[in-house]
Amino acid sequence: MTATNDATTIAQRFRETFGADPDGVWQAPGRVNLIGEHTDYNEGFVLPFAIDKTAKVALRLRADSNVRLLSTFGGHGLVEASLDGLEPGTGQGWTHYPLGVAWALRERGVDVPGFDVLLDSDVPSGAGLSSSHAIECAVITALNELTGAGLAAEDLVLVTQRAENIFVGAPTGIMDQSASLRGAKGHAVFLDCRDQHVELVPFDAEASGLVLLVIDTKVSHSHADGGYASRRASCELGAQVLGVRALRDVGVEDLEEAAGVLDETTLRRVRHVVTENDRVLQTVELLGSQGPASIGQLLDASHASMRDDFEISCPELDLAVDTSKEHGAIGARMTGGGFGGSAIALTPVGLQQQVRDGVVRAFAGAGFTEPDIFAVTPAAGALRLA
Ligand code: ADP
Ligand code: MG
Repeated sequence: MTATNDATTIAQRFRETFGADPDGVWQAPGRVNLIGEHTDYNEGFVLPFAIDKTAKVALRLRADSNVRLLSTFGGHGLVEASLDGLEPGTGQGWTHYPLGVAWALRERGVDVPGFDVLLDSDVPSGAGLSSSHAIECAVITALNELTGAGLAAEDLVLVTQRAENIFVGAPTGIMDQSASLRGAKGHAVFLDCRDQHVELVPFDAEASGLVLLVIDTKVSHSHADGGYASRRASCELGAQVLGVRALRDVGVEDLEEAAGVLDETTLRRVRHVVTENDRVLQTVELLGSQGPASIGQLLDASHASMRDDFEISCPELDLAVDTSKEHGAIGARMTGGGFGGSAIALTPVGLQQQVRDGVVRAFAGAGFTEPDIFAVTPAAGALRLA
């Protein structure tokens, strides 16, 4: 993780690198999903929030079609590319993300010229906090403004999805960029993945004496490809057998009947999605009526459902969840696609150290890699800094 630099420092670094002032500096956050896992591609509900860790970009449009990219992230030199004849799959490492966004905007009919860009991000990479979408959302916000395209947030969400799905080749949905583009301080983003309807739901853990800890297990979720595809296939099968467009259209009250027509594994996959959608709705209602201290049991139930019914947890995630609960967290769950990545633990501020120490000790005792544990707060979505 790099240190957080301010806009002036980043603009200065841009100037040193490219020999001119940037047109501006923009930032976009990573995200944590509070609840609603594997519901997105079932046209269901998710409840992520933008976090106080961001990708910042200083960017300047060019008169030609060339792109020059530099990240302050260690180990990457200056990369040069051209937007002319740019094809999906070309590019290297992180440059996929800014180039993908430029490519997708051009596909959308926006006249995007070349640009110079400096990236500085403190969103941990590969921890399930969507560092890739933070980069994409910062760049697309800058390009949308500088080219005068003026696309609405809903459009930017879809263009970013095309960049990830087709240019980068990652089969992701609309949750991450919706949180990054549409998040707000002190709020979670209640998103209906069927129609992109968004409602901002108050989620001010701090005001309730709580802190949301992220426990990065350091287990890479990149082995997850096969598991992710097979879960999607099970959901599609379930919807087909039940005769609905998507599992979003199945209610908790329909599960008994579903048990009569689905095979045992498909039933459990379906049950996770259906009950998870219901838990999102309950969480939204409780946050509105009683506040963050009331949602602990829903977080716990979400984890149990992913562990037992959807079977996407792993020993490290289960240990992080169980141990944080034992040491005082009021609710905990794995977050993200599963098979690794991070867990979250909603913890009373005064018990924070106890939970951190307990989890670190338990991981050492189990012979697991030491986890990275840090607090996140719901923060603003993408914006211009300078
Ligand atoms: P996630 O989005 O969950 O963090 P991904 O695998 O989708 O994981 O994206 C991680 C990739 O994003 C890294 O492999 C790297 O290419 C890129 N990345 C993230 N942060 C940075 C950064 N600060 N500088 C350069 N590349 C970065
Ligand atoms: Mg990603």
